[in-house]
Amino acid sequence: MKIEFKKIPQTPKEFQTEFNSVKLEGNFCKMSPSLVKIEADFCGSVPIECCRCGKSEDLELNESLDFLLSDGVFDKESDELVIEIENGIIDFDEIIQNEIASIQSEYHFCKECANTDEVFEKEF
Ligand SMILES: [Zn+2]
Repeated sequence: MKIEFKKIPQTPKEFQTEFNSVKLEGNFCKMSPSLVKIEADFCGSVPIECCRCGKSEDLELNESLDFLLSDGVFDKESDELVIEIENGIIDFDEIIQNEIASIQSEYHFCKECANTDEVFEKEF
């Protein structure tokens, strides 16, 4: 689902997008001419590889994801997560895929490895 930045209403509007078995649903509204606020629930399961043994397991997601979208470069201070978008088009499919990719790039241990007492040095 894609929507033009300038067409975002000031009253909250619902959206829903899915990628594989992950769902992102919630609402969005315009806060200023160049900022859109998204309040959404992020749920489903994401396969994630153990960084120690390489085994893949499903990580259950059930979290709220609130962030701002900036039309172009955002150069102010913000306590909230700000995602900069290009071309004036908000692409919810791209947002969900990026979120999944960032979860998959996190340092993760499978249940077995998390339960071992061995000292494991982080390798970056
Ligand atoms: Zn493991």
